[in-house]
Amino acid sequence: MRKKLIAVIAVAALSLPLFACSSGEKTELSKYTIDATLSADNILTATVTCDYVNNNDVPLKELWFHLYPNAYRDGAKYSPVAANRITDAYPSGKSYSVMKIDSVSVNGNAKDVTVSGEDENILVVPLGDTLDPTEKTSVKIEYSVKLPKVKHRFGYTDKSVNLGNFYPIACMYRDGAFVADPYYSTGDPFFSECADYSVTLTVSDKYECAATGEITGKTEAENAVTYEIGAQNVRDFAAVLGEYQKMSGLSGSTIVNYLYYSDSEPEKSLNAAIDSVRIFGDKFGAYPYKEYTVVQTGFLQGGMEYPALSMISDAYSGDSKLDIIVHETAHQWWYGVVGNDEVKYSWLDEAMAEYSTMMFYEYAEGYKYTFDAKRADALAAYILYCETYKNNGRDDTSMTRAVNEYASETEYTYMIYVKGALMLDDIRNTVGTEKFMAGLKKYYADNKFGIAQPQDLMGAMEKASKRQLKPLFESWLNGNVQLYSNH
Ligand SMILES: [Zn+2]
Repeated sequence: MRKKLIAVIAVAALSLPLFACSSGEKTELSKYTIDATLSADNILTATVTCDYVNNNDVPLKELWFHLYPNAYRDGAKYSPVAANRITDAYPSGKSYSVMKIDSVSVNGNAKDVTVSGEDENILVVPLGDTLDPTEKTSVKIEYSVKLPKVKHRFGYTDKSVNLGNFYPIACMYRDGAFVADPYYSTGDPFFSECADYSVTLTVSDKYECAATGEITGKTEAENAVTYEIGAQNVRDFAAVLGEYQKMSGLSGSTIVNYLYYSDSEPEKSLNAAIDSVRIFGDKFGAYPYKEYTVVQTGFLQGGMEYPALSMISDAYSGDSKLDIIVHETAHQWWYGVVGNDEVKYSWLDEAMAEYSTMMFYEYAEGYKYTFDAKRADALAAYILYCETYKNNGRDDTSMTRAVNEYASETEYTYMIYVKGALMLDDIRNTVGTEKFMAGLKKYYADNKFGIAQPQDLMGAMEKASKRQLKPLFESWLNGNVQLYSNH
């Protein structure tokens, strides 16, 4: 996600826009088949079949699924929107989701399920038989959910409908337990493994559809249109609906789409996406999907990344909009193809996306921002933030905290995005650009479609540079690097 940098000190003139899967060859991926209909009054009725492959090394007796739409309900313990952003997110007043699980079956047998977790965020499905490693089972979930009117990942505005995290997705299994983090407002609190998707989406015929993957069919009926969408080896699936204009172009062999309803310079937006796919593909490793779609929408932050799809807030224009497109596109490499636990190690994709955005301006032509200016802004902003932070009696500058352990979204943003980018810049200056870029390529290749850990990035950099870098990384991560003045 791209967050909006909140200036803590009025004099900080920032050009920084503030904003928001271990690797291994898997023999078979899980598959989600989703058949969903969105009514005129924004109620989504869906059947999701998850053909789940146990790619863990332990047998499982039950499966857990995230129920992210439930986080938008009235009375949720954790709001997906931070308290200080409620008014911005709900300009028409507070609005809530209502989610109802109608039935669950496993291999055709109806199951009694429970909704559990810290915030009614988990669907627990007993399997009956034990599912051994590499074995497959089919879980069918029928549900409906009323969308909230909110400028967030899941919700609608007068202009568009965001279907992010709208379906039950299997929880990861790590260290003897399912990972069941609730929907924190800070960061992008998601963690999932790559799977194949086959989706049909029936919506009002006024809507164009932007989605993860490729739209392979479009059938029109009375006042409605059904989109058939396929996506292979993607970490998640999302779609956005709206009355869009569409432009497309090519970046190498990748089809790049831009859907918008209000953009005076749509070709610049499309070109930023095309340039990003080309430059990041060249510098990190090829973009692996056939299509990439950028879509303008109502969104509280700058933008939000999903596999092969980026949501860009309609609140931005000009150079800052282009910057958001570059940042979200960088997430296709860091988060999308190379996955990570975004609650525990959010820096692993956010710092990488932020620093990749800075590097973009070294190689791209025709943009206002430059690498040097962005780096200087980040450094100045971080120093100013830390001085204020210290004056307020705080001194924890660690990046090792989980997203919910930061005192505020602002603190999170400065530590993970700003300081995270400075950390990577320090690593680069230590090993030299050539070895740093070789390290990024190695990290991407070694962790493609998998889940990376911090040590995978450190290891890739150490191997590429033949230098010991873990202590330097850890100094930054643990908050031992003193960038700010000692007064
Ligand atoms: Zn981001």
